[in-house]
Amino acid sequence: MSKIRKDIIDKILETAKIEEVIKECLGSYSSDNKAGLKKCGVRYEALCPFHSDRSLGSFVVYPKGNCYKCFSCGAKGGVIDFLMEHEKLTYPDAIRWLGKKYNIPVDEVPVYWKYVQKPAPPPLPTLELPKHLMAGTKLALDKDNLVTWIRTSIKWDVVQRSRIDNVIDQYNIGHGKYGHTMFWQLDEKGQLRTAKMMKYRTDGHRDKQAQWNFDFVHSIFSRGQKQFDERGQLVVDEHGEPILKYPYKHIYDEEKQEARLTFFGMHLLDKYGKNATVNIVESEKTAILMAIAYGNHATQVWMACGGLEMITRERLQPIIDRGRRIVLYPDRDGIEKWRIKAEQMHYDRLTLNTEPVTKWWLPKDGEKADIADVVIRIINNSKRLTNITDVEREIPHAKPLIDKLNLEIDKDG
Ligand SMILES: [Zn+2]
Repeated sequence: MSKIRKDIIDKILETAKIEEVIKECLGSYSSDNKAGLKKCGVRYEALCPFHSDRSLGSFVVYPKGNCYKCFSCGAKGGVIDFLMEHEKLTYPDAIRWLGKKYNIPVDEVPVYWKYVQKPAPPPLPTLELPKHLMAGTKLALDKDNLVTWIRTSIKWDVVQRSRIDNVIDQYNIGHGKYGHTMFWQLDEKGQLRTAKMMKYRTDGHRDKQAQWNFDFVHSIFSRGQKQFDERGQLVVDEHGEPILKYPYKHIYDEEKQEARLTFFGMHLLDKYGKNATVNIVESEKTAILMAIAYGNHATQVWMACGGLEMITRERLQPIIDRGRRIVLYPDRDGIEKWRIKAEQMHYDRLTLNTEPVTKWWLPKDGEKADIADVVIRIINNSKRLTNITDVEREIPHAKPLIDKLNLEIDKDG
């Protein structure tokens, strides 16, 4: 066997970056790859590939030191150790592997290695948060910018106006103590899964300039907090990285539960008529506006998915199990992607409605139009129901409102 030249080995070891090598082997963290490498500040974390690990925190990768360490099983080392341990490579093959990755010619000997994927651990029970967390935030709605804007800035007619506070209560909108609008997610069984937290301006748009303007309650509980000693010094490990503590383990322990998101409004599935069409929009704000404008317990329930990537067969399953009609409302710039996704769901009662973003969209909205802005235009252009005669005439069928949006009335219902 040929011997690899020392200057080549030195060059490879100087070039190879631990986080890149581990990412190559484990992939990047995502909802589909929970075992992948995740950036956490200046370091990276992953489920430890050397012991049966369930939660982030033990296995840490330090780019500065070009090394990794597991605080549970004690595995540690640099790029070569990782490749030898994890990929079961010999030392020369680990060098060749790196040479190939970083385009540094080593020798003519080919690398033979085969990465064996660890089987996924069995699923954990779904996280259920205590309801008092939600109840507390429903008391401070008068301070909430989005709620105030919904109450005061849209030309609702009398019927719609009468629904506003009912809808806000039904959907469990809350106001968090740091200024976030809280969109609590309850599943079809009424179990509290988490809340999406977002800050809004007084004009009803997201406040993306604000500090900490987006989060999830379960993320806060799982993330851990920095600790300070009695002299006020940050508590750090041997690499100078903060050691985190997890004060909410009694509520959410990633080793015991798994956070699973659901659609905003899923808990209304069995509260609305059993033939009511399930309309799914992207944003929580749009779902609320639609529920106020067109929500009808007998025929229409509105939910928010939070983004196209959140639409999965698993999350749709409670709706599919009940045989409901589902209508998706795509973004202006995402019609084709939503159409492809709809087909991938393989459910024949699922359709797409592009009317709001084709018929009612205006060029000034831009391609990235917030569908809620378009919806407000539809609402403001609807026939106003201003007196009781109008209401009596219009409500038995609610037809003009439904026509305006081209909502489909369930023929079976
Ligand atoms: Zn370990």
